[in-house]
Amino acid sequence: MAKAKQSKTAKPKSSKPTAAKPGTAKPLFTVPATLVPVAGSGELFQVRRIYCVGRNYAAHAREMGADPTREPPFFFQKPTDAIQVVPAGKIADHPYPSLTKNYHYEVELVAALKSGGKNIPAAKALDHVFGYAVGLDMTRRDLQKGMGEEKKPWEIGKAFDRGAPIGPIHPAAKTGHFVKGAISLAVNGVVKQQSDLAHMTWNVAEQIEKLSAAFELKAGDLVYTGTPENVGPVVLGDVILCKIAGLPDLSIRIVQG
Ligand code: MN
Repeated sequence: MAKAKQSKTAKPKSSKPTAAKPGTAKPLFTVPATLVPVAGSGELFQVRRIYCVGRNYAAHAREMGADPTREPPFFFQKPTDAIQVVPAGKIADHPYPSLTKNYHYEVELVAALKSGGKNIPAAKALDHVFGYAVGLDMTRRDLQKGMGEEKKPWEIGKAFDRGAPIGPIHPAAKTGHFVKGAISLAVNGVVKQQSDLAHMTWNVAEQIEKLSAAFELKAGDLVYTGTPENVGPVVLGDVILCKIAGLPDLSIRIVQG
């Protein structure tokens, strides 16, 4: 105690701030990188940002009470660490999040970028796509709608912890680009969502064009490309099974949060 008192009143050796020499400062702590396995390799895809497109299938736009004409796409983001990696062939436990009483699934194709830029034309956009995965844009629908009605940001409905389950990323070099193909979601074996990627209002290339006009895209960015119609709620114990033709199934079980 006496020592501490003494140091408190001791004259500082120098009035200059004791900043570290340039290049020698160390981080206080390490923030874990968000990594998604690349299928068929020992490689990992490091996630930089997660972009999501809203109302990108006409029938889903209608069920959300929006005009399904080809209005410009709009985007929102989820935090990088909202990712929940779901291994192929496994049913991953997914905790029911806090604050909601109406927790919804949205099955989506995810495009993973290996490079980026600004103002990328649609004709060049797919050159930036490393690969694709099955994803879920999980949504606290009651919070999203409540905030929307009050004209407040509905981030709380979308950008929560583990709100972005994703399967392994499959390189486009092997799968080709996904412009059509069946996409579906079942709950406890009952099919709820069923459509085709060709029904997207804005395809992946067009989404990248529009996104890159608003943000500089970079390697590590993910784009959740929108969900078809018939989104709906899940409760504890439900098992969600997502399918996109050409990719392995993604499955989660809703467990106590
Ligand atoms: Mn969505």
